[in-house]
Amino acid sequence: MVTGFKPRAVVLLSGGMDSCVCAALATRDFATAAVHISYGQRTERRERKSFFEVCDRLDIHQRLAIRNEALRTMGGSALTDEKIAVPESHGIGHDIPVTYVPFRNAHFLSVAVSWAEVLGAERIYIGAVEQDSSGYPDCRPAYYEAFNSVIRAGTKEGNIEIVTPLIGLRKHEIVRLGLELGAPFDLTWSCYSREDRACGVCDSCVLRLRAFEQAGARDPISYAESALRS
Ligand SMILES: [Zn+2]
Repeated sequence: MVTGFKPRAVVLLSGGMDSCVCAALATRDFATAAVHISYGQRTERRERKSFFEVCDRLDIHQRLAIRNEALRTMGGSALTDEKIAVPESHGIGHDIPVTYVPFRNAHFLSVAVSWAEVLGAERIYIGAVEQDSSGYPDCRPAYYEAFNSVIRAGTKEGNIEIVTPLIGLRKHEIVRLGLELGAPFDLTWSCYSREDRACGVCDSCVLRLRAFEQAGARDPISYAESALRS
């Protein structure tokens, strides 16, 4: 009898808190490989560093860190275009903000599906969050349902499935889940605009700070300033 066998999964790991929790979940249940995609975003070096450190801590040995040149070349987002400033957080959830990177997650998912086919993995984990998020259209459940149809129709075996375990959770619930799983939040990077210290005032920092506060937990990373405390 084979004991300890785990089926394989691929996790998309940006290095942020949601994908870190997602990776901790994946490694609990699957032999996990992690993929990271730099796309010319402002904080790409810092996020890539987090990717490798989180992989180390979670014992993920199979790693793929690659570059997507298309998104940066096109621009059109505050994350990839120096001419568009990253806004300080205000009114999260009203409009699709300028930090939206056009159809970004489809690029990421396509890479993950290709790699899953190569590895024989049947699950792809992505830490998309719908609630308490910035309102990006590629974080909606319907989008992932549709993408799964594409995978069934367009892969050799048709047996790979994207799973989005965090999509219906509130952000503070994700913090609690991560703490239960021992997710290495201290190694993660969420800030959109700085690489030395998290700014504390962009949408991503504000959502993260608020999540830890609501979870009654301390965020282990340090911030330049905090919009919540001012
Ligand atoms: Zn920030």
